[in-house]
Amino acid sequence: MKKSLLIHPEELSRKWIDRMAALGVQVLALHPAGGKNAHKTLAEMLRLLETAEYRALLDYAAACGLEIEYELHAASYLLPRERFETEPALFRINKSGVRSPDWNFCASNPQAMEIVTQRAVELAGKLYRSAPRYHFWLDDDRDAKCFCPKCREKTASDQQLSVMNAVLAALREKEPAATLSYLAYFEAMEPPQTVQPLPGIFLEYAPFDRDMKQPADTMPAAEKENIHRLLDVFGRENAQLLEYWYDNSMFSGWKKPPKPFTVNNDHVRADLRFYRALGFADISCFACFLGADYEALYGEPDLSAFCE
Ligand SMILES: [Zn+2]
Repeated sequence: MKKSLLIHPEELSRKWIDRMAALGVQVLALHPAGGKNAHKTLAEMLRLLETAEYRALLDYAAACGLEIEYELHAASYLLPRERFETEPALFRINKSGVRSPDWNFCASNPQAMEIVTQRAVELAGKLYRSAPRYHFWLDDDRDAKCFCPKCREKTASDQQLSVMNAVLAALREKEPAATLSYLAYFEAMEPPQTVQPLPGIFLEYAPFDRDMKQPADTMPAAEKENIHRLLDVFGRENAQLLEYWYDNSMFSGWKKPPKPFTVNNDHVRADLRFYRALGFADISCFACFLGADYEALYGEPDLSAFCE
């Protein structure tokens, strides 16, 4: 099984790279913070990626045998909000019937799709040393789909998948090996109903709402059934789990300074067995707010159960 840890770009250090290599993690995934400012944290990461110092860090990670991926909420970056003033039709109509640049965009507007796919190809080209496995997620909110007359009947899952299919097709024109995630998260937890994934779209299942105090196999039967349906639709071969066991940004309420962090290793071990039995090939976990500032306050975090 492949293992990845997602950390904030500004927390990357040689220490973190050594830590991942020593644990036996295969993929270092950079994850700019989500939320309302995801396009800004993404732009800030792109700025870092232009610098020789940061590239040297990623060269070091590659020399240590780590693959590099980027996992990010990209919609507001791919369709810049400023365009709302002159081209409102690119943007979504919200639940109340009001056109708004708050989240995502209209998934039925051909011009919006043209801009998004073009900028996604440009973005892929800026991700230094990225594996051809991309994660260009939609915006980070539970109420972000479009309710225009053309989109209204489509679920958030269908809207997301139609966008991802178009983005993947554009990425593959330049890079035939490209693959792209469908993020099962928030309002898109359920499988799409009317859109089929193109080959190269893989499932990324991120159970944000699950009770982290309980082992995953105690989740309600309906949720387990939902995971099976997602895996049936997207396939198991490249399916990725995105867990929160080590997400100290979540446990710290997404506010620095980081809080002290403890993990129940028995739960992690049991969850790994549970997800492996379901068929996930790739296990990833957020590990934000565990960088140098965390270590200075509380010492080395215990990540030992992740790669046992
Ligand atoms: Zn629409």
